[in-house]
Amino acid sequence: MRLNFFGVFFLLSLILVAQEKYPTNTFRSPLEIPMVLAGTFGELRSNHFHSGIDIKTQQREGLPVLAVADGTVTRIKVSHWGYGKALYIAHPSGHTSVYGHLKKFGPEIEEYVKKIQYDKQSYEVEIFPEYGELKVDKGNIVAFSGNTGGSSGPHLHFELRSSVSEKPTNPLLYGYEVRDATDPSLVGLFAYPLSNDALVNRSAQKIQLNFTRQADGSFLADKVTALGTIGFGINSFDRQDMAANQNGVYAVKQTVNGRVYLEYDFESFSFGETRYINTLIDYAHFGKYRQRIQKCFKEPYNHLSIYKTLYNNGKIDIEEGMSYTVELLISDIEGNETKLVIPVEGKQEAVKIKKDDTTTKDFIIADKPNNFDLGAAKVYFPANTFYEDFYMSLQKGKDTITIHDNSVAAHRNFTISFDPSQYPLEERRQLFIARLDDHMRPSYSKTYKRDGSFTTRTRALGMYTLVKDSVAPTISPKNFKEQQWLSNYSYLSLKISDDLSGIDTYSATINGKWVLMEYEPKTNTITYNFDDKILNDTQCELKVTVTDNVGNSSTYTGTFFRK
Ligand SMILES: [Zn+2]
Repeated sequence: MRLNFFGVFFLLSLILVAQEKYPTNTFRSPLEIPMVLAGTFGELRSNHFHSGIDIKTQQREGLPVLAVADGTVTRIKVSHWGYGKALYIAHPSGHTSVYGHLKKFGPEIEEYVKKIQYDKQSYEVEIFPEYGELKVDKGNIVAFSGNTGGSSGPHLHFELRSSVSEKPTNPLLYGYEVRDATDPSLVGLFAYPLSNDALVNRSAQKIQLNFTRQADGSFLADKVTALGTIGFGINSFDRQDMAANQNGVYAVKQTVNGRVYLEYDFESFSFGETRYINTLIDYAHFGKYRQRIQKCFKEPYNHLSIYKTLYNNGKIDIEEGMSYTVELLISDIEGNETKLVIPVEGKQEAVKIKKDDTTTKDFIIADKPNNFDLGAAKVYFPANTFYEDFYMSLQKGKDTITIHDNSVAAHRNFTISFDPSQYPLEERRQLFIARLDDHMRPSYSKTYKRDGSFTTRTRALGMYTLVKDSVAPTISPKNFKEQQWLSNYSYLSLKISDDLSGIDTYSATINGKWVLMEYEPKTNTITYNFDDKILNDTQCELKVTVTDNVGNSSTYTGTFFRK
């Protein structure tokens, strides 16, 4: 092949495009409306960083969701929680796009999924179609936006991952336009004495610092006196132009006397590291106030890959007689910045607030396994359940045990085993292990029953007990009445609920044939779509059976007519 100058130029640009880290013209928007975000990539959530963006859908469901590029569907997942109905499309660029909380899939994919749901007689399915089996073109309607799964309002969860490593990257790096001229908001500033002898403003404990806005828009903290190794933490969020949502910030940078001590951003992270969010935030503060402080220093047990620059792990050694200018720069992905200056003076002072050196008899060595017998139950912590050594508070009640409190994060599951032998056999069937919240409300913890021992695996510290559930679930029609003609109805819905242990399984038949019920636990609703078109009879007998987590079962039967 002979190439003229333009040919070579064309080829060279192709190679350049191929090597571009974040191609900005490859992906279209997954929606046809302007992008307004209810959540950003890397946003701080419970035990994880948000791995995509949440695009607002004008408080509505059912907006067309479009393939962002040519590709093939590689995974479809339907679940009660998490992303609800979710679609994964692999693209030739090496990216996989993910669409979550969908109301339903596009016609071709919907039919494909329904067939499998009917074959397996299950609403929850996970399917991996063959490569090329379900091809899509850029702009094809592949789904409709919804609110399924762990979603608290209609929106589209959208991700871009590497098809090979599955590592998600920030979708906003790919040229999507989001209107944002608003600087990140700074809500709180905290100082941490880190070394044994360290003090900040005469306190050996974490303290909150005051700051004020300056004429140029930046913030200035009140002068701090300190000695020893210290660190800072911020509570901050970002807002875009068209919505009030408090989203996550993109990057944080800390300099000390002009030298960069710490810099991290949310360009990318892996699912394997996401739980280490509990080492980035001040977890004890979060447990108490439900407010997330991002530490501007890295703990030794923090294995996050988000750090771009680290000097002394972001920790600052303050010496007597020296002055320091600490600058924190918080930015969003559009480059809007909020600057905060903290003047620090090295000064020897008398201690006013002493270290909290409360001890208990049970000292946890984090990298060793730990076993405790608490009377009503035994607890086993495998090695490295916790990040660091600490004094754990363990309490035995008559029927309850209390494992410390929510000021400490568990990285791994630990095991709690109750001995049910004091209960008569027939009563044991209805018992389950429950965690009791601050208001003593029980929640079901998945209970494995073996002879003489009920066990559960959990990462939540707090109070546990055995609870008895003797009441079967309730089932009642929602949008119809018995003996009603439903010819013009497009769907049937029923309310199902269970008081204590919660719903485990549900199933329904019409005239003896299994029908698909879509279950939405948030609204306690199961829905059958007449579109599934398997009804030929005028008189229809509906039978719904629901079982709770200890095996109590209820059945509803009713007749309706249709032609
Ligand atoms: Zn999301």
